[in-house]
Amino acid sequence: MNSTTNEVPAAPIPLSRKPSERGGPDTPAGGRTACIRTFGCQMNVHDSDRMRRMIQDAGYAEVQRYEDADLVILNTCYVRENAVDRVKGHLGELNRLRREGRVKRVALTGCVGAAEESQSLQETYNIDLVLGTHNTYELAEFVGLPTMRETYTPELPGTEGEHSAFVTIMTGCNYQCSYCIVPTVRGRMICRPMESVVEEIENLVAGGTRYVTLLGQTVDAWRYEGKRFCDLLEAVSEVAPRVWFTTSHPSNMEDRTLRAIGERDTIVKRLHLPVQSGSDRMLKVMHRGYKAERYRRKISVFREAAPEGTLSTDIIVGHPGETEEDHQLTLQLVEDCEFDSAYIFKFSPRRGTEAADLPGVVPDAIVQRRFLEVLRGVEQNAFRRNQRKVGNSEEIFIRHGATEDGKAIGETWSGHAVHVDTDAAPGTYVAATIESAGPHVLYGRKI
Ligand code: SAM
Ligand code: SF4
Repeated sequence: MNSTTNEVPAAPIPLSRKPSERGGPDTPAGGRTACIRTFGCQMNVHDSDRMRRMIQDAGYAEVQRYEDADLVILNTCYVRENAVDRVKGHLGELNRLRREGRVKRVALTGCVGAAEESQSLQETYNIDLVLGTHNTYELAEFVGLPTMRETYTPELPGTEGEHSAFVTIMTGCNYQCSYCIVPTVRGRMICRPMESVVEEIENLVAGGTRYVTLLGQTVDAWRYEGKRFCDLLEAVSEVAPRVWFTTSHPSNMEDRTLRAIGERDTIVKRLHLPVQSGSDRMLKVMHRGYKAERYRRKISVFREAAPEGTLSTDIIVGHPGETEEDHQLTLQLVEDCEFDSAYIFKFSPRRGTEAADLPGVVPDAIVQRRFLEVLRGVEQNAFRRNQRKVGNSEEIFIRHGATEDGKAIGETWSGHAVHVDTDAAPGTYVAATIESAGPHVLYGRKI
């Protein structure tokens, strides 16, 4: 998820690398070239990695600028309207470059590709190929590879051999949250067999992967032949040196999973558990399937299991019908749960969802005020909690190597993002003392 005016990661979650860090030459020596742009969540980042493998196998060199590319792939997000607007902006620019003969072919993939609107976009912007989220494999044929069959799970691990990898354990979602387009564009939940997940991770680790993130819209809803998510997580934690998972749904989160996070050395003590609202009335309108008290109880189990761990969430402000009282309950929950970070979203009506037609639209100025109040609440708590880390010695996993300022970005076992002065390579560990902390990040000095 990207930070925009409508959504704020109140602390960084540095999972994906910048395009320029994702491999592939910047300027082609000749031959065919392709440029992939990714919008949206980690699932999309992962899908882009798979498509990257396909274009590389088909002999394309990856480039970063549209004007250097024969083929441009826009892998898109449909969750909020501003995401679609952004994609339209890119499609307009690509149309112009194509008219000037600088780009030859354009493919639209991901959630916008799966939406009804894709047909009219294809006509308006002359798109050569439109793929949804279930038929990404058809790109292979488009770029000249033998036809592939893929039902629910990538047969092409995207980041094999690198230090960090995303592994999809389930696709789709069985919930019907009032505001959410995901079930429409990604379909119902399909879980991947346990052996297939574990085998893929064993291969990744053998190829040098040091950090595995299990992915899905509601990973904790994963079930397969009597096994539940915690069984899978435990099995993965036996074979991977470092594990995290996202996203979870409060209704599926079991206490035993929360305890496993605390107990298992290889699991990063970081929980992302979207709450959306602190008001039971709004949670009901949203069809979330839990009450605020149940959410609070889950959090207390997590805090007890992993007292040093980090907790993040998603919150929507301004859902239709949200009153001032509902908003105050959200602020209270933010205070009680002491989130270490949060993605805060202004409600965005998505055509085809229930909430898009609900009465009680909240005026923009009120949404903006509520947004800032929630943000302030999260940041104050995060700052307070981060201050407690100052003076600690931490083992830090380097995720991104040092930039010009000499600082690398790493992550503690508690899931805190740390800037540290080291030239250590991504995928390695350094020991550091935490010298200072802001609301979003810790600053460490290598020991
Ligand atoms: N499956 C995850 C869950 O239920 O917690 C969330 C997946 S969704 C792609 C990521 C976040 O986007 C949601 O948690 C929600 O806060 C936000 N979101 C989804 N639809 C939205 C909408 N129409 N307007 C604003 N925010 C939205
Ligand atoms: Fe969307 Fe709700 Fe499913 Fe999350 S659980 S993907 S918010 S429908």
